[in-house]
Amino acid sequence: MTTSQKRKVANARATSTSEKTAPREQSQSARPLTTAARKKLVKKTLEALAQAYPYPRCALEYKDPFQLLVAVILSAQCTDKRVNMVTPGLFERFPTAQAFADADVEEIEELIKSCGFYHSKALNISKTSKALVEKHNGEVPNTFEALVELPGVGRKTANCVLGNAFRVASGFVVDTHVLRISRKIGLSDATTPEKVESDLNALFPKKEWIDASHRLIYLGREYCVARRPKCNGCPLESFCLKRD
Ligand code: SF4
Repeated sequence: MTTSQKRKVANARATSTSEKTAPREQSQSARPLTTAARKKLVKKTLEALAQAYPYPRCALEYKDPFQLLVAVILSAQCTDKRVNMVTPGLFERFPTAQAFADADVEEIEELIKSCGFYHSKALNISKTSKALVEKHNGEVPNTFEALVELPGVGRKTANCVLGNAFRVASGFVVDTHVLRISRKIGLSDATTPEKVESDLNALFPKKEWIDASHRLIYLGREYCVARRPKCNGCPLESFCLKRD
């Protein structure tokens, strides 16, 4: 065999080895878990989270469903701490949906400026307040369908308001923390909040949806931070698959 022929054979062997190895490694890391495996992860997750966070509650401060609805709208892309600093003054100036509906949007903007995205948030609060006054007597409805019809209210906000203000479990509250952790643990491979919510709703018992949402959010803030998760010490460390 000539030198050139030997080189071709060696290259062919190298190529065939890497082709056999690469897809197997990829498929192992990306392989979806079975429902049975996910159910086991759910059980462990629930136990570990209940132990770590025995008293889950909404971090936003509010006195009634309307105040919670406004606070959740303000919390998009903003910390709960910041929202809690803004809402006392806001609700003192506008104590009801009617007061917000009658207000100039510019005045609402001024009061919520530090929460960011204040043009769209003020507009949504104003439009939602007007819709509540026109269609719901100034009260926040307690059904998912009615809530998501309000301006600026999506699935996450509706689930949060129903769960906390009415103790109605309509679905997981999937914010950026819950989405990230669900993928990390191995509970979902989805990349959209809607699909992750659907996966979690199917896996967890309904009676756990409200408290588990809070607990996952706590975990995201304390351990599973986006850039550098603090796996060492995390209550889920022993079984989390740490997927991307
Ligand atoms: S073990 Fe690490 S990756 Fe898994 S949930 Fe905890 S912090 Fe996140």
